[in-house]
Amino acid sequence: MWSLQKVLLFTVVTSNMIIISVHMVEFCQKDEPDCQGQDTSPSSHMINSRWNTSILNLKRNLDHFRVSCEKLKGAFPIDQVRGNFIRSVTNCIFSEAFPTPLKGPLRLAAVSKDALEGLLDLDVAVIVSDEFRQYVSGGKLFPGSEPLAHRYGGHQFGYWAGQLGDGRAHLLGHYTNRKGETWELQLKGSGKTPYSRSGDGRAVVRSSVREFLCSEAMYFLGIPTSRAASLVVSDEPVWRDQFYNGNVKTERGAVVLRLAKSWFRIGSLEILSQNGELDLLRKLLNFVIAEHFPSIHSNKSDKYLAFYTSVVNDTACLMAEWMSVGFAHGVCNTDNFSLLSVTIDYGPFGFMEAYDPDFVPNTSDDEGRYSIGAQAHAGLFNMEKLLDALRPLLSAAQQEVAEMVLKTFLDIYQTRMQQLFKAKLGLLGENTEDQRLVEHLLQLMEDTRADFTMTFRQLSEASAHQLRRRNFTQAWALQDLASHGRFSDWLNVYLLRLGRETHDEDEDRQARMKSVNPRYVLRNWMAESAIRKAERNDFSEVALLHDILRQPFLTQASAEQAGYADKPPWWAHQLKVSCSS
Ligand code: AMP
Ligand code: MG
Repeated sequence: MWSLQKVLLFTVVTSNMIIISVHMVEFCQKDEPDCQGQDTSPSSHMINSRWNTSILNLKRNLDHFRVSCEKLKGAFPIDQVRGNFIRSVTNCIFSEAFPTPLKGPLRLAAVSKDALEGLLDLDVAVIVSDEFRQYVSGGKLFPGSEPLAHRYGGHQFGYWAGQLGDGRAHLLGHYTNRKGETWELQLKGSGKTPYSRSGDGRAVVRSSVREFLCSEAMYFLGIPTSRAASLVVSDEPVWRDQFYNGNVKTERGAVVLRLAKSWFRIGSLEILSQNGELDLLRKLLNFVIAEHFPSIHSNKSDKYLAFYTSVVNDTACLMAEWMSVGFAHGVCNTDNFSLLSVTIDYGPFGFMEAYDPDFVPNTSDDEGRYSIGAQAHAGLFNMEKLLDALRPLLSAAQQEVAEMVLKTFLDIYQTRMQQLFKAKLGLLGENTEDQRLVEHLLQLMEDTRADFTMTFRQLSEASAHQLRRRNFTQAWALQDLASHGRFSDWLNVYLLRLGRETHDEDEDRQARMKSVNPRYVLRNWMAESAIRKAERNDFSEVALLHDILRQPFLTQASAEQAGYADKPPWWAHQLKVSCSS
């Protein structure tokens, strides 16, 4: 039996794990001689690499890129009913379902060279072929692919919604790369499945651009996330009422090829538990533990408890990491929460600009259930639902321990938040006043509606001398903050605290802070500007943003020129994002 002590020790140890993202690929900078006079279409831009790909034996022939569904198909029963019609599905984890190819000329709007080369061992040169566009949009299947749609359920906005499932996504198979990592390839927007309910199986350009850009941007911010390999835009008309006000318009269909080590969600377990399919629930859990939680011994009687403890810990940490970059997911339903605690299903997300715990990115979320300040509580609710799903497999004593584990969620979140915000302020060592210092700053930011990203970035960029002199002429966010009557008091305390670390040089403090406080995040207006162009088949700003957000902590001339570190333009305030996608 797991004692509470053991559980707590486990959570403390894992909460100290740090996620390190390795930036292996460099793009040719536009102002370098090598790049002069070159085509700037997405394809040529992506191939422009100084990384000697031949050394890595990357695949150039897509016919040699084999994926497999054998592991999943071997582990679980498949839906006995065949055919692509909408239905209620039982006693399986997946249904066989084939993508429906998109109509019209297909345009490759973007590819992630990092994902193709780093995760799929594909030489980026493959993207120039028409075949590539077919493979990554559902027109052709990679060798070995036997596409599947996953059956899952979920609690949506607090209520059990029953069967949801992959209504517009197809799992193509998994691929094990040269590093030994296994990635599941999934198309989103690739047509109807048995789980499409009243939907058309499609995704539009705007939401697909947002998912492509944001998932890659989150990765480079160092936040656990699914990845995106490519974005294909078609001419297939897709009807959407973007703001649910009766104004239905035609948009165009797009497909994102996205990658995750696993696409299983809390809702994957919930549907089995709710339906009393306990053998299958056990099977799925055993599979997830064996494949993705190697430190949990698969034959121990406490393994489900250990699994639960791990997910509670990692999800609490994920919520804190979101908060540390001002990311609001927008739809924190249990079907959108990964069992591997990575960010998935990018929809009406937003990066908070003016600091405001009530920030709600999703205009469809009238009650602000998923406001940024409520995200941790949404995470807690989801962990409660995960526990409910596991209960049938836990003894009474194990359930009691699991309930204690659940109670640690907010503490783990707070502990991780404190670590992250201390790092954002460049604070070393321990001081009992640090929490107050962080809270006081956040209060000043809330009162002055100071920009979240740039306040921390400009504190990082300012020297101690500039801070002492209150010299903020180049720092628009700090100017807003400095309008607060108590800002000077806060700054004095902060400077005193920094001064206490006698071995800490100011340049080191600045470098440390700049490495955790991004200068660029995907603000709504930036995404919107790129989307407006993409809707006219001009993908240049998608490429620009994608490139810049690969190095969010580095000041870049092209980003400065585009105004990405400036005060958001006036029209940004009128932007709205809804669930429609
Ligand atoms: P999401 O809001 O994208 O997380 O989707 C919630 C559920 O609705 C999932 O089961 C999706 O597969 C399904 N869904 C969303 N949009 C569509 C669509 N256009 N066609 C079919 N199913 C959809
Ligand atoms: Mg979803």
